[in-house]
Amino acid sequence: MKKKLENTFSWSVSRDSVFRECPRKYYFNYYGHWGGWQSDADRRTRQIYVLKQLKNRATWIGQVVHACIARSLHNVSRGVPLLAVDEIRSITLSGMRRDFRDSTDGRYWQKPRVYHGFFEHEYDVEVSKEEWKEAADTIDHCLKTFYESETFEALRTLDSKDYLEVEEFSSTGLDGVEISNKLDCATRERDLAIVWDWKTGRREADTGLSLQMACYAYYAKQAFRVDLAHVETRRFDLYRNKLHKDSIRENAMQEMLDYVRGSMKDMLGLLDDPDRNVAREERFQKVERSAVCLKCNFLKVCMPSL
Ligand code: SF4
Repeated sequence: MKKKLENTFSWSVSRDSVFRECPRKYYFNYYGHWGGWQSDADRRTRQIYVLKQLKNRATWIGQVVHACIARSLHNVSRGVPLLAVDEIRSITLSGMRRDFRDSTDGRYWQKPRVYHGFFEHEYDVEVSKEEWKEAADTIDHCLKTFYESETFEALRTLDSKDYLEVEEFSSTGLDGVEISNKLDCATRERDLAIVWDWKTGRREADTGLSLQMACYAYYAKQAFRVDLAHVETRRFDLYRNKLHKDSIRENAMQEMLDYVRGSMKDMLGLLDDPDRNVAREERFQKVERSAVCLKCNFLKVCMPSL
């Protein structure tokens, strides 16, 4: 018999970021959408579920680039021959065109996990042809940077046994709570566990970056059974073609763990029943700041007047 899906509590960097941005948005993302995939879901739950899957141009860029690189690295790690770079780019381009068509057709309202939906289309945000082209060009530029890089050359020729993980949902624990992760890639190099992170943003990432890297290192230390001194993070800024190598010190790790414990307490403190992960919408305040709300997927169900 199929096990019933349960909404259990876990902590992640992205969950923390949504919680800090707006508690009500956090509620919609992690509780309000639950069950929205079922055919008998009520109208509002279904709506929250569909809106949750929308991507804006920036997140779409990251999604397309990550998926393309993950596919290549999965193949490399399983000894499957790689396609020529031009072919990879052209397949990606047709996928991008399909996403755009699916979104303008509004097909995501039927199958939001299958068909792409842009925030810009759902909310009638004016985007010029040049701006759409710029997004597509950024994807192409990031892919070109990656496939022509020394990093890719090194990964391409790496022995399969030195691949530790490629884009897998994984987790570790802290004080009995699951900490969720998805590493872009992890490899072994001599006695080091290398955690790779691809960045595609036009603006240099800074907020939450050290927290994210420390969480990755915490996971790598346990999952790959190495001590912290043997974990190295490598962040590849594909937009600027810059590779940043780093390691996490013990005191930074402790700071991260203290932060995570505090963040978990804040989240659990708003639940009606933390043991059963039961939440009630009214307990999660709305941030109500137009700078945040006008970019929020849930605007329609939260503040229709805006
Ligand atoms: S519309 Fe504003 S208040 Fe409502 S969930 Fe989104 S960010 Fe929060």
